[in-house]
Amino acid sequence: MARRQFFVGGNWKSNGTQASVRELCEQVLNSTSIDFSRVQVVVAPAFIFLQFARSLLRPNIAVSAQNCSLTGSGPFTGEVAVEHIVDLGLNWTILGHSERRNLYGETDDIVSKKVNRALAHGLSVIACFGENLQERKSGITLDVVARQLDSLKKGIIDWNKVVLAYEPVWAIGTGINATPEQAQEVHAMIRNWLSTNVSAEVAERTRVIYGGSVTDQNAAQLISKNDVDGFLVGGASLKPAFRVILEVTN
Ligand code: PEP
Repeated sequence: MARRQFFVGGNWKSNGTQASVRELCEQVLNSTSIDFSRVQVVVAPAFIFLQFARSLLRPNIAVSAQNCSLTGSGPFTGEVAVEHIVDLGLNWTILGHSERRNLYGETDDIVSKKVNRALAHGLSVIACFGENLQERKSGITLDVVARQLDSLKKGIIDWNKVVLAYEPVWAIGTGINATPEQAQEVHAMIRNWLSTNVSAEVAERTRVIYGGSVTDQNAAQLISKNDVDGFLVGGASLKPAFRVILEVTN
């Protein structure tokens, strides 16, 4: 069986200015000479820059939202609905990022409902989950991840449109990445969970990507692991180093 196509997402979070978004798109992303048949590339600017980034980027780099509301269009002040993302002609959203879970109270149940809403409207989803430091230290990482996957599964109506992003909370933005062995252990467990709880075919096909302090220094070692199909990159996706991270998938 051919290897799953690698997948690299750049999560720009609440960062950037028009000038820095232009620079990233033109100087870093459009200047890569990577083979897009080997890697799918999706970047997620802040909502306010979605259209601007789309207008600047080459077509084989997709643009994603970082979140969508649980509600649709209507009297929901300040919310951005799935319908808005679809209307812009975009195909992707990140959901369940740990910053959404921890800073904005998104529970497993809310995340699962958002995933369901996004898929029902035809978006593809980068679904994020992962244990926190205390959970890892207590040795319950695999139980936590299984619980999060059980909940996500309730919302998933089309596995073809889902990329699973394992992002241990203790590794996000800390400069402390999971070792390749730690990442592989959890990714293998995720694939096993897929096989048992969904199907062998979905387990084989679904991209499971790693996120948490990925840099140009550690990307090659992480991607060398069988079940690591790519990355969700935060901080380093705002820098020229992102090009190097894309290149290790080639
Ligand atoms: C993230 O926010 O999804 C992330 C992985 O961040 P960082 O790469 O900065 O750890």
